[in-house]
Amino acid sequence: MSTQEFFDQGELVAVLTTQPLDRTLDYKAPEGGCFLGAFVEVPLGPRKVLGVIWGPGQGGFDLSKARSVIRVLEVAPMREEMRVFLGRVADYTLTPMPAMLRLATRAPGLGDPPSMRKVYRLGDGEPDRMTDARSRALGVLRDFGGLAFTLKELAEQAGVTSSVVKGLVKQGAVREEDSPRDLPYPHLDPDLPGKELTDDQAGAVGKLQQGLQSGDYGTTLLKGVTGSGKTEVYLEAVAEALRMGRQALVLLPEIALTAEFLTRVEARFGARPAEWHSGATMTERRRVWRMVGQGKAQLVVGARSALFLPFRDLGLVVVDEEHDTSYKQEDGVHYSARDMAVLRSAICGGRVVLASATPSLESWANAEAGKYDRLDLTARFGAAVLPEMKPIDMRAEQMQSGTWISPSLRQAVRQRVERGEQSLLFINRRGYAPVTLCRACGEQIACDHCDARMVEHRFLKRLMCHQCGETKPMPEACPSCQVEGKLAPVGPGIERLAEEAELTFPEAKIVMLSSDLFGSARALKAKIEEIAEGDADIVIGTQLVAKGHNFPNLTLVGVIDADLSLHGADLRAAERTFQLMRQVAGRAGRAEKPGQALLQTFQPEHPVIRAILSGDEEGFWKAEAAGRQAAGVPPYGRMAGIVLSGPEVGPVFDIGNAMARNDAPLRQIGAQVFGPAPAPIARIRGRHRVRLLVKAPKGAPIQDAISHWIAPLRLKGDIRLTVDIDPQSFY
Ligand code: ADP
Ligand code: ZN
Repeated sequence: MSTQEFFDQGELVAVLTTQPLDRTLDYKAPEGGCFLGAFVEVPLGPRKVLGVIWGPGQGGFDLSKARSVIRVLEVAPMREEMRVFLGRVADYTLTPMPAMLRLATRAPGLGDPPSMRKVYRLGDGEPDRMTDARSRALGVLRDFGGLAFTLKELAEQAGVTSSVVKGLVKQGAVREEDSPRDLPYPHLDPDLPGKELTDDQAGAVGKLQQGLQSGDYGTTLLKGVTGSGKTEVYLEAVAEALRMGRQALVLLPEIALTAEFLTRVEARFGARPAEWHSGATMTERRRVWRMVGQGKAQLVVGARSALFLPFRDLGLVVVDEEHDTSYKQEDGVHYSARDMAVLRSAICGGRVVLASATPSLESWANAEAGKYDRLDLTARFGAAVLPEMKPIDMRAEQMQSGTWISPSLRQAVRQRVERGEQSLLFINRRGYAPVTLCRACGEQIACDHCDARMVEHRFLKRLMCHQCGETKPMPEACPSCQVEGKLAPVGPGIERLAEEAELTFPEAKIVMLSSDLFGSARALKAKIEEIAEGDADIVIGTQLVAKGHNFPNLTLVGVIDADLSLHGADLRAAERTFQLMRQVAGRAGRAEKPGQALLQTFQPEHPVIRAILSGDEEGFWKAEAAGRQAAGVPPYGRMAGIVLSGPEVGPVFDIGNAMARNDAPLRQIGAQVFGPAPAPIARIRGRHRVRLLVKAPKGAPIQDAISHWIAPLRLKGDIRLTVDIDPQSFY
């Protein structure tokens, strides 16, 4: 990387653009010159595109032909550490740099001057006459000191219509002014009193704060059972970062969780932090991006891509529920936000806290190897104790066909309903039934574009493909044999389970909680709050409920099918089952009332089920680690997934076969290639998919080898190739 920091007008500069080109482009520095890292607008053909000054120009062509940078945008230049970070992520994930730059500039209108909006403050004038509404509006403005409100905020806060405010403006009692939209975020005060910590918690906080004070990079695995106060602990680490004048980032796996967390931040620091996720408006995103870059957002709470925001001085990244699979992005740039958080912090001298009740085997192994520190919180806070966990042996239960709630589970739920406590029935399947079968010909209704069955969603009154999202109405007749009235649902989804629960417990209030049943994150959040306040006897939920909501009155968790994810082809099937079951069980007994978790299983002797029930986590990890070590798979070996796809299966396979034959670059590093084979989902959206799997010893330069391997490929027509380093799922 260049050491030259400034380029005078007319000097040749290399500009990295967001356009899919395999190199930087040379331009002349604009009038007034420009800094290295400056965000600029450059001409490309007839268009203007976004770019960043990446270094001195390469030259080697007729300089009189060089075009000029159009303008330098009014945002802070990209810092060197960000340029280094993007380069390293690109190398690690085998992503072209323009795609990295797109990831780092995911906010609209970065270069535009801040747009204005009307705000309202207390004016000097007096209204001609005072009404109730008017005095309420003026009262609010007085109560909040000099603060400015938007029209909507003021009207809502005062409980008046906007015409009341407008009336006061006419009389000069309220002042209307223009104010830029991209306002700095309110100050977070780390010195407001926090909660009184338990000894365990205080010890952990002490260690994290020491780490921060060192000013050096370091990663800590914060392991603690659900309800042990991990959030309280890492909020104190955030406080320390803020005291040091550094910025902090908290990554959460699910937007639905942000609301509860924001409330806790506000309670601790006196104001709300910046939010970055798919639910934020474009204007809000732009505000976050700019303010983070100016250091005027001390704390960002967000989804994985927040890692690519232009922090000025990122001192701490918390990855909450670090084992969660949603941290791995599986389209576009295939990156793991957890791993890249570690990389970013290593570059900028920051600390990372990976928090989880059930860490990933990767993080557990890194802690074992001494690469990460490890802190354990072993007890739940206050009177809460861990739930008792027991199997329900389904081989011994009398089940009627088409039902999934065993007599034993039924009895346990009934008890809770009678005591006025809540139960959660967990099933990790959306929709009504996973399969729709024709009882006349045996046909299972499948998606027209994917190698996947259509899932019946009664709530939507449609069949849906969970791969491509395509829906169609439930047909009257079998699409294959045309016989009418023979289509039947097979197996349970959350909607069907709710139907059974309604029949079994007619007196109970039953609520379904699944990501697809709510139109918006807000509706979902409202529902979660209602449940927390006790407005449900039985909650029927999918994976969504496993993630960190607090339901204080919930004392029973019933897992409908604990065996469901046990036998996936996935190398992480056991780990995922273990994590999911322990997480779900952790929902029970969060307050004073003790909880119980009942797991319906046909294999109570299975080692994973036994480990889940006994709670012998270290034992489970050791066994799992030994198995992976013996197989040479992650985290004790390296893997990369290659997916080739195209409209015709033949040519896709031809390329796959050619790749498998020409594997010299991989053999050189001791890596093996498996495949090509049809991917587990062999067709998605009409594209045939073929997979190759690369397995390499730990420490082997797998990215380099793969680059050399795929470089000579000339993909014809509509064939696409994606590389996924450290794949998390194998679909
Ligand atoms: P985790 O993140 O490990 O699931 P939380 O931090 O959410 O745990 O804590 C669980 C509950 O206990 C929360 O309601 C939290 O406010 C409360 N809690 C934890 N520690 C304390 C403490 N030291 N003082 C008061 N309340 C606490
Ligand atoms: Zn489909």
